Amino acid sequence: MRKPIIAGNWKMYKTATEANEFVEKAKGLVPNTDNVDAVICAPALFLNQLVTSAQSSPLQIGAQTMHEENEGAFTGEISPVQLADLGVKYVIIGHSERRQYFNETDASVNKKVHAAFANGLTPIMCVGETLEERESGSTGQIVETQVEQGLSGLSDQQVADLVIAYEPIWAIGTGKTATAEDANEVCGTIRKKVAALYSQETADKVRIQYGGSVKPANIEELLGMEHIDGALVGGASLEVESFVKLLEAGS
Ligand code: PEP
Repeated sequence: MRKPIIAGNWKMYKTATEANEFVEKAKGLVPNTDNVDAVICAPALFLNQLVTSAQSSPLQIGAQTMHEENEGAFTGEISPVQLADLGVKYVIIGHSERRQYFNETDASVNKKVHAAFANGLTPIMCVGETLEERESGSTGQIVETQVEQGLSGLSDQQVADLVIAYEPIWAIGTGKTATAEDANEVCGTIRKKVAALYSQETADKVRIQYGGSVKPANIEELLGMEHIDGALVGGASLEVESFVKLLEAGS
């Protein structure tokens, strides 16, 4: 059985004060259960304080991106070594906004996924198609290529430990959700690709999230699908109440 993982992606929202207030409030409300992983991927500025304040609570803290090198002359960047040293557990890699606005490619995603594992971080690797690609019927081919290139060179164990987030770009922050059936179909395609590249055993272990306008009203249906093992959530992770409802649905 795969353990569901609900991860909030705060993007570039919240001040340090608001971030602290969220975690202090959420700590007492997050269901204390072994049945769901609860993660908040916060702006890098707050990771230090949030790791400390979330200690001894079920809440785990993740980053939203990182550089692929452990150190170097990369002004403004944050390294996997620095994240791991803070006690950060997860890192989102290749979010569509990073691909779109910061020129991330499948090749750089692959380097970052390797770097995350090398430093004990669990990558949440994002894949997904644009509206144009969906309408032209190439969704399956697009995500298969992203998966194959993103996973290149990883071991079976690393792939089994990885989290893949299927996020159709047209559904992110738009209020448009893929139907649960459509989302499940693409997550199934991803699992099949992992089985072809690795083994069925590995494919059965990898957790695949859906992301794109997930909210308390649609989470249960999505989580009820065979291949959907959680959600990567933007907007609905910004308020404690809705984030907790998502976790309750997963637990
Ligand atoms: C996201 O940021 O990955 C996301 C899915 O956002 P939203 O839930 O707001 O669509």
